[in-house]
Amino acid sequence: ESLDAIFDRLIRDIPDFPQPGVMFKDITPLLADHDGFTAVVQALAAAGRDESGAVCVDKVIGMEARGFILAAPVALALGVGFVPVRKPGKLPSATYAVSYSLEYGEATLEMHTDALVPGERVLLIDDVLATGGTAAATASLVAQGGGVVHALAVLMELSFLHGRGALGETPLLSLRTL
Ligand code: 5GP
Repeated sequence: ESLDAIFDRLIRDIPDFPQPGVMFKDITPLLADHDGFTAVVQALAAAGRDESGAVCVDKVIGMEARGFILAAPVALALGVGFVPVRKPGKLPSATYAVSYSLEYGEATLEMHTDALVPGERVLLIDDVLATGGTAAATASLVAQGGGVVHALAVLMELSFLHGRGALGETPLLSLRTL
C-alpha cells in the first residue's frame, strides 16, 4: 500500500477542533493500524540516513505530545537514542527553555541541559508542521544544547501556514503536503 493510500485511509479531518474554524488532522486511526504505523515510521526514519543508507544522526527528538509517539519508534528503527522536548514544568532535571508566540499568546518548550552531547546530530520528528513555531523553538533548544539539527521529518505539512519559512536552512521531509 502506498503512503498516499495509507494517509487517505487512516488520517481523518475533524472540523472545529480544538477551536472553531480549525480542521484538525487526527492521526489516531493511523496509530491504531499496525501496517500503517509501521510504514510511516519507516518513511520518517529515512530522514536519518544518508544516500548510502547509513544512519547519520545520533539522537531523535520528539516534540510533545504526538511527536513522542512517532519519534520513539523512529529512534529504535535507526538504532539511536530518543530525547523528549516538553511543555514547561514536565522535565525533572535542569532544562533549557525557549518561548515563542502563537496566534493567541505564547508557548514554551524545554529540553534537559544534558540531553545532547555537544556536536551530536539530531533528527526532529513531529506529526504536523503548521506555522513552524514548534520546530523553530526545538531547533533553538538543540542549538543551546550544543547539537546540530540534521533535519525535521513530519507526517504532514500544512503548506498554507508557511512553516517551511520558519525552518531556515533545516531540511524538511514531509510525507504529505496539504
Ligand atoms: P506549529 O508550531 O508548526 O504551528 O504547530 C505544529 C504543532 O501543532 C505540532 O506539534 C502539531 O502536533 C500540532 N498541530 C497543529 N495542527 C494540527 C493538526 O491539524 N493535526 C495534528 N495532529 N496536530 C496539529
